[in-house]
Amino acid sequence: MAHNFIDAGVNLTSSQYDDKRSDIVARAKEAGVSNILLIGSNVSDSQASLTLAQEFNVVSTAGVHPHDAKEATDDFIPQIQQLLTQKEVVAIGECGLDFNRDFSPRAIQQSVFEQHLALAKITNMPVYLHERDAFSAMKAHLKNTSVKGVLHCFTGNREALEFYLDYGLYIGITGWVCDERRGAELQSLVPLIPDDKLLLETDAPYLLPRSLSPKPKSRRNEPMFIHEVANTVAKLRGQTIEHIANISVENFNRLFLAGKDR
Ligand SMILES: [Zn+2]
Repeated sequence: MAHNFIDAGVNLTSSQYDDKRSDIVARAKEAGVSNILLIGSNVSDSQASLTLAQEFNVVSTAGVHPHDAKEATDDFIPQIQQLLTQKEVVAIGECGLDFNRDFSPRAIQQSVFEQHLALAKITNMPVYLHERDAFSAMKAHLKNTSVKGVLHCFTGNREALEFYLDYGLYIGITGWVCDERRGAELQSLVPLIPDDKLLLETDAPYLLPRSLSPKPKSRRNEPMFIHEVANTVAKLRGQTIEHIANISVENFNRLFLAGKDR
């Protein structure tokens, strides 16, 4: 019997999925993925993700990714707030800081991120956080407030993991963990995440798990491959895949759905 999984992060609006979205969701559901969180990365993308969430009976986020921060208009916060009134929109984000690629100037990333945090504080909704090579700045922003949420696609070091856990955040693990070379540090940290803080995500169409066999010819990741992330995480933690499936579903529901009328 297929386990019940939830994929806590999919970029379904990606052009890599053009004309294939209903097939991808259907295959995911067939593989036991009962819910999917669709990531919005700017205002119009968040609107598009919401429309897909409504079509496929899943959920979505609304926010501005640090890469897109430089394009945020002065009224982006009211626009996001408007999206949050929809029952499918369960988190604020993807938001945060990316000092690895620096697609937006750091000062703008920080100002846009700060406004997401303020919105999360007023609405008491969870944030969907992105942080790449920006741990100390992220830590400084978080310390100024108290929000709930998830550090999505965690790839940081032990110090970062310990801070995020102490802060109360959930930790999203992707197929990065299935890469025995660049994922080696993450593999050593996954057993340190408490059962009640673990979330699984594919970040599809990116991050096709390296250990997946056979691999699709397209090399495109899909939510149906969440089982490969779960399998790897289960082995690293010395737990069964059933247990990993169960706790990650419970955690998702507690963080994102408990406060929402669905
Ligand atoms: Zn991200």
